[in-house]
Amino acid sequence: MAQNFDPAAATAAYLAQLPPEAHARASAYTHGGHWLLLWGTLVALLVAFLIVRSGALTALRRKIEGRRSRPILASFLVGVVYLVVDSLLSLPWAAYSQWWRQKQYGLTSQAFPGWLGEGAISLAITAVIGGLFFTALYALIRKAPRTWWLWGGGLTAVFIAAAMLLAPLYIEPIFNKYTPAPAGPVRDEVVAMARQVGVPSDKIFIYDGSKQSNAYTANVSGLFGSARVAMSDTMFKKGADIAEVRGVVGHEMGHYARHHSLWIAGVMSLLAVLAFFLVDRLFAPAARLLGGEEIRGVADPAGLPVLSAVMTVLFLLATPVTSSLIRIAESDADHYSLSHFNEPDGLSKALVKTIEYRAATPGRLEEIIFYDHPAVGRRIQRAMEWKAAHPKPTVALDLDARASFSDHLVVFPRMPVGMDGIALRADGSWFERHDFGWSKGRYAIADGKLCLTEERGSRRCYAIGRAASGWTLAQDAGAPVAVTLEPIAQAATPG
Ligand SMILES: [Zn+2]
Repeated sequence: MAQNFDPAAATAAYLAQLPPEAHARASAYTHGGHWLLLWGTLVALLVAFLIVRSGALTALRRKIEGRRSRPILASFLVGVVYLVVDSLLSLPWAAYSQWWRQKQYGLTSQAFPGWLGEGAISLAITAVIGGLFFTALYALIRKAPRTWWLWGGGLTAVFIAAAMLLAPLYIEPIFNKYTPAPAGPVRDEVVAMARQVGVPSDKIFIYDGSKQSNAYTANVSGLFGSARVAMSDTMFKKGADIAEVRGVVGHEMGHYARHHSLWIAGVMSLLAVLAFFLVDRLFAPAARLLGGEEIRGVADPAGLPVLSAVMTVLFLLATPVTSSLIRIAESDADHYSLSHFNEPDGLSKALVKTIEYRAATPGRLEEIIFYDHPAVGRRIQRAMEWKAAHPKPTVALDLDARASFSDHLVVFPRMPVGMDGIALRADGSWFERHDFGWSKGRYAIADGKLCLTEERGSRRCYAIGRAASGWTLAQDAGAPVAVTLEPIAQAATPG
């Protein structure tokens, strides 16, 4: 590494990869997004007001209960009807904020009917799961009218855990197609990374995320056995190279290995306890404010719009807490990626592509309140500081070795009879002749190592060294042996 590597200058150079107009557009999108939080809350309050004023839910509850008290059925049906009506009334706002605006900024290519259809499916899922949640919540309120808010936090934890566990199995496949990463250099690399940190290597998927969003992104979902890393196909459409994949997948593996989703779910459940406590105290005045004279207190399922109006306001007020919580996990995942896979440039290249939906250089306060990921400017800065502190001694060696080895036959001294060396092609494939046929696969040169992955999946690596007159290779703990390189013809192909 050059002595005069300057992290600040390197960060500025990354940010300058986007023209000023693109940064301005990203700022407009991001600032608009902050305001959407406020407008979205106001829309939710208006919708709650309309539903309460209509008296529809109290009428429904009365009809279900008739002469007999049927609290379970009433809370489930009122819950389902409320969720459906609320979604329908909020539809124009949702269509504007989640589809039309995304389209305006070029962040989605999805046509409106596709968006609407997926919205209908998720409403159906939400209505059933939400109906069950409200049934359980109202049962708690009836059984423990003084302490229900405490149990409510536990209930929330159970539902979050169940949703996390089941989402990759039953919900995500409804919206997107998940396929194991296809054979090739990307999968070889990701599998090797997974082995390095002890993450199951069969948990890496690619999904057709470009269907809904043009955002360059990857994620971790699931819990315990269902957990997995998924890369959106937009990553490949926007041309991710191996260093980028290593940087990004290293970040996602960080979420996985350090159980961020469990931590976040735990804290969210604690916040839910606090929120339910406040709902318990604020319900009566809020119901009066929204004009719900017929609502019989917090235990009445017809009061759901009041309950959710209070929750909506509390969530808005909690934005700095929830975004900071997630931001800390994100920062930790970046650190995991850097410290395990050391791809500061790969990570930075990928981060630049996320600026279009997250402006790069917000003020500190804006970042704390609204950003659920550290600002890209700061993330790149940290990556560049990491790079300055952890130079890769092998970068130059790797480049040299790649140039020398490619399209050459690597010949070891004392080759077994019938073998004439390992042929390394410039396209990343290799083959080796035996008495009884051919071995072949893909190879990679990185971190001072030449690694050959066979088609059947086995992998061997050689440490690369320089000798006076060429190159040495050392397998595992073996001593380095001097190898000779002979040019191969592109046509030389295993039969
Ligand atoms: Zn992340």
